Amino acid sequence: QGQATAAVAVASLRAVAELLRDNEDELGRLDAIAGDGDHGRGMTRGSSAAVEAAEAAAAQGVGPAAVLLAAGDAWASKAGGTSGVLWGAALRSFGDLLPDDREARAADLVSGAEAALTSVQRLGRAELGDKTLVDALVPFAEELRGAVDEGSGGAAAWRRAAAVATKAATTTAELRPRTGRARPLAERSVGTPDPGATSLALVLTRVGELIGE
Ligand code: ADP
Ligand code: MG
Ligand code: MG
Repeated sequence: QGQATAAVAVASLRAVAELLRDNEDELGRLDAIAGDGDHGRGMTRGSSAAVEAAEAAAAQGVGPAAVLLAAGDAWASKAGGTSGVLWGAALRSFGDLLPDDREARAADLVSGAEAALTSVQRLGRAELGDKTLVDALVPFAEELRGAVDEGSGGAAAWRRAAAVATKAATTTAELRPRTGRARPLAERSVGTPDPGATSLALVLTRVGELIGE
């Protein structure tokens, strides 16, 4: 049972790594406006390391939690940068909430998303409005919970939440960064969306296309 979820996790990571490779230049360009320009590179390196680690773990027959634990550790260690550490923690926390002995349900996705948000905020200490990926992750988790509470299936709820996250990521263009590397160049960043929120929304959207009903 858990191995089916683990296989979905590996397939999702592969698709995410490909998506991030396709968007590497654009994410780097966004990060170069008020940051150091390495966001595309970091996301590509982190996600491809995560795919390798996840494939190796899945080949041992472990469940989704152990697959995402291995993926998160690899992502954090190979990506470099703030976002890599946060993505690593988010994957590990999300995976922790996925069951090994039955198929994942909509409620598991909600707990996973909320656990990921909690660990991102515990590590990075960013609040809503600081112009970070938290500005996309908070509305994602809220919409996901709302949709599932209304009785929506996991995949449909995820897609609805990803659409909200995408809108929220776009809206970060209006904000001034209050944390992270973009902080000193806050004014220059106004008019450009936060790179980390942008990449998160891309990933959440892609995963929504892959998970079944
Ligand atoms: P670095 O800033 O170390 O070069 P990246 O360029 O890969 O790392 O990632 C930058 C992104 O990381 C930002 O656009 C922002 O979304 C996110 N980020 C930075 N600091 C924080 C934080 N404290 N909490 C949450 N996200 C953060
Ligand atoms: Mg950077
Ligand atoms: Mg950097």
